[in-house]
Amino acid sequence: MAADAASQISVGALSAIFDETKPQIREPIVQCVQIKSLPSQQNNQERYRAVFSDISNYVQTMLATQINPFVTSGLLRKGCFVRLKAFQANSVKGKKILIILDLEILQELGEAEKIGEPKALENRTEEDEKTQPTTISSNGFYGSKVQGTQTQVGNRAPQPKPATTSTHATIYPIEAISPYSHKWTIKARCTSKSNIRTWHNKNSEGKLFSVNLLDDSGEIRATGFNDQCDVLYNIFQEGSVYYISSPCGVKIAKKQFTNLNNDYELTFERETIVEKAEDQSDVPQVRFSFTTIGDLQTVEKDTTTDVIGILKDASDISEIVSKTTQKPYSKRELTLVDNTGFSVRLTIWGSTALNFNVAPESVIAFKGVKVSDFGGRSLSLLSSGTMTIDPDMEEAHKLKGWYDAQGRDEAFVSHASMLGPATSTMKPDQYKTVAQVKEEQLGMSDDVAYFSLKATVIYIKQDTMCYPACRSDGCNKKVTESAPGQWRCERCDKTHPHPEYRYIMLISVSDHTGQLYLSCFDDVGRSMMGISADELMEKQKSDEKAAGDVFQDANCRMWNFRCRAKIDNFGDQQRIRYQILSAKPVSYTEEASRLAGIIDSYSNS
Ligand SMILES: [Zn+2]
Repeated sequence: MAADAASQISVGALSAIFDETKPQIREPIVQCVQIKSLPSQQNNQERYRAVFSDISNYVQTMLATQINPFVTSGLLRKGCFVRLKAFQANSVKGKKILIILDLEILQELGEAEKIGEPKALENRTEEDEKTQPTTISSNGFYGSKVQGTQTQVGNRAPQPKPATTSTHATIYPIEAISPYSHKWTIKARCTSKSNIRTWHNKNSEGKLFSVNLLDDSGEIRATGFNDQCDVLYNIFQEGSVYYISSPCGVKIAKKQFTNLNNDYELTFERETIVEKAEDQSDVPQVRFSFTTIGDLQTVEKDTTTDVIGILKDASDISEIVSKTTQKPYSKRELTLVDNTGFSVRLTIWGSTALNFNVAPESVIAFKGVKVSDFGGRSLSLLSSGTMTIDPDMEEAHKLKGWYDAQGRDEAFVSHASMLGPATSTMKPDQYKTVAQVKEEQLGMSDDVAYFSLKATVIYIKQDTMCYPACRSDGCNKKVTESAPGQWRCERCDKTHPHPEYRYIMLISVSDHTGQLYLSCFDDVGRSMMGISADELMEKQKSDEKAAGDVFQDANCRMWNFRCRAKIDNFGDQQRIRYQILSAKPVSYTEEASRLAGIIDSYSNS
């Protein structure tokens, strides 16, 4: 097998990448001889480095994050063979590094011990380092678009400064920018722009502003100080697309000041060129990585994240005086809800708070909110963060649909109400087996416990699966039929011609370790049954067999449940009740890689 693989390797391809005078191999086949993860930073995606060998040389590489699944799934590992499909070469001070943007694992070649005695690529002369890094991307940066650098150059705005044109031949993806890259141009959308801030201290004074920049590959923050602040502040507009070309400072990002997932940030220099792009269309809009409101529980304090939710309530504006600066601040508290059944408070500050004028029940997407454990979990919009009202995106449309269909009437669990001594140290939900849930007596202590469970529905209790509920907005109270067609709600003091049935189900689930009863409310019931309780009741009246089929269909399905275990007082007895907070159909690809990880942990020990 190894001999077979050795014959496939593109010997000499790696040195050719760094030497344009040599014949290039477009998609070289190499062996992976080392792989390791970089220490991950807070709020940052895992990054991996790999060493690839072409038998005559080896080279250090950094894997673009879209390749991470190859590593986490265990496909890309030491000894295996890969075809490098898209990459970028960088060198600094004689050190050569490849950024791998796309690759393919050649499983048919198996794996082998390191073949041959490859040498590190030689350091080259100073002159070489000044040459431009090459871009070899056989199928576009990210696979889908066939888009060479030629067309990108063609799209560029007319150049007022022709002297600089030649240096822009290569459009870099933001993700490839590092202190090792030089002579680059990025094409990026300005997704947020700060106000100008000034500072005065013993040693210096000055002013600065910063922008967040986005392209297909990622995001980066860029800051302009003093003169650059004067020159560039008015050029940047939120939402517009720009070409930005080196020279430009690239530094390790100060994560405490940013909500972006980039190890680096940019500092504009006197010679940095910023031009508005004529074609604004091929760069994506603001990107979000949302945490659901329910999942905030599992996010560590001080993490920065993005959230989207329905605005349930907004407080009046209030003013507080900062203890450290003695300056007054305006603030406003918003309450957001989403389809996880949770609500959360989010504080906005300053001019955002003063000018806030958003209709209740709007969808708002927040980028860059800080998670605090005040009152269980609460959120605060960072000054670098942004707020988008009714954004045109799938998540927003889903939320709106859910809210109109059922969310408006739901009762939400606030994170504050779950405040307990254990809250601030709460670990992310762990996958438990049924046996573990029982053995560990989850929920037996005074604290509420949360866990994830993969299990199959084996029985749904049919006789008490729903109750007649009040149809008034925001009231889900049980109604009673006082006379035919007279359903009375004590709470609203109203009578409805018919109730709205809502699920309150008890189901039995099972995994390979045992069986457990779980209860759930309307939203989970709907997703498990596929129809609303109203529709199901209707079916039962008109066609009992069809109703039976609905139960039949819902049975034997496998779900990922998020559950809460809590002591319940039942008369003078105490028992633990397990409530389903959300149910997701098992994603077999995710589940397979989770299991692969578990299996790996056996083979490595
Ligand atoms: Zn009512």
